[in-house]
Amino acid sequence: MRMRYLSKSIVSVKSLISRKTYFSTMSINLKSPVFAGNPIRSKTPKPTDPFSPTSAFQTLKVLLSGQTHIQEPSSPKFKVLPFRKGRPLAGSTGDLVKKWHLGWLSFGDFKGVMEGSELKLSDDLLVYLGCESKEQKEDDSVVYWAIDVSESISLVEKLGNRQFCFVELRTLMVATDWADDSAMGELAIAGHARSLLEWHNTSRFCGSCGQMLVPTEAGRRKQCINDSCKKRIYPRVDPVVIMLVIDKENDCVLLSKQARFVPRMWSCLAGFLEPGECLEEAVRRETWEETGIEVGEVVYHSSQPWPVGPSSMPCQLMIGFFAYATSFEINVDKSELEDAKWHSREEVKKALTFAEYEKAQKTSSNKVDQMCKGVEKSQNLGSDFNVESGELAAMFVPGPFAIAHHLISSWAHQVSTRGIETQKKGVLSRL
Ligand SMILES: [Zn+2]
Repeated sequence: MRMRYLSKSIVSVKSLISRKTYFSTMSINLKSPVFAGNPIRSKTPKPTDPFSPTSAFQTLKVLLSGQTHIQEPSSPKFKVLPFRKGRPLAGSTGDLVKKWHLGWLSFGDFKGVMEGSELKLSDDLLVYLGCESKEQKEDDSVVYWAIDVSESISLVEKLGNRQFCFVELRTLMVATDWADDSAMGELAIAGHARSLLEWHNTSRFCGSCGQMLVPTEAGRRKQCINDSCKKRIYPRVDPVVIMLVIDKENDCVLLSKQARFVPRMWSCLAGFLEPGECLEEAVRRETWEETGIEVGEVVYHSSQPWPVGPSSMPCQLMIGFFAYATSFEINVDKSELEDAKWHSREEVKKALTFAEYEKAQKTSSNKVDQMCKGVEKSQNLGSDFNVESGELAAMFVPGPFAIAHHLISSWAHQVSTRGIETQKKGVLSRL
């Protein structure tokens, strides 16, 4: 039931048939969920390693001490990713096929653009993101940092003049080709960095004594400056249960619509976990509160970090389930949902077929390209998600960047329980 890994057989099938046929006939299997699989933080290096948070932070301090002429360290190399109001710096390449990439700056370049800006470069501004260490060639090891430059207008302008642009993470998410491992890796890095920086922005004071919090461990933690308190706090993660409610008997699923969704988009139910509640209880409570449906069996499917929510929740963790209904009459809580309905497997398959995710991805990458060239300023996402084809689709579901898509498509493409039961009966009757 878990999200399957992209197998070789699927790749070969994909190359044999057109992408359109591919999307309409099978589910899209990702190597790892979007925003997971971050290539620079799979393992935290030991404190003694030159590219560990502790060691890299010491090097950073020396670089910023002002006693020596500041140059980029020979090993490990430092790269810095600037953010503005939760948006990473990004660039774009390619002629026919546009591809976005993160706007990493070498430490030297970054130091150069910082000069004369309102922002004073200090060691508590940079946040450690991770490292890429090459065991054979230590000289090629790279430590990655992020910095929030929102406070400096001149710096934002200077960086923007370099064919780069601060792009909304949601736009990059839609613009990412999910078959491109390196683009998916960059998206995961940007998501992690945004989470950390937003957490730093919204966690400025100690919840116990009200004194200031300062970053520690190269920005991976924070600590209260009050000597009699010294409370440590950790980056915030908000767990959310997301469930596809299934009616096994009638072979259909419950999808809902919210006022904030784009027109005709239907998705899974979801809700925040409450203190003292296990995941299964949260699935049952949320389903009951929002739709009046009772849930029995709850089966884990997969999870996904979701760093594109509001800045007050820098990173949600979406935990996905199949939830099997035991009652079927819908009673929608209108304060939570616009509507909720049972949809047959055929309807859901049709919704998956109609949605042109690839087209939305290309439109979005072109938009990023135009923004980097200064042609387009607008970051309105409405058109990116309005992905139905020429034939007006009655409904569509979120794209492959969202766990809801994978819950819905893996159910739609599995053999129906009713089908299995019919087959079993057929076998029995022949015996
Ligand atoms: Zn305190």
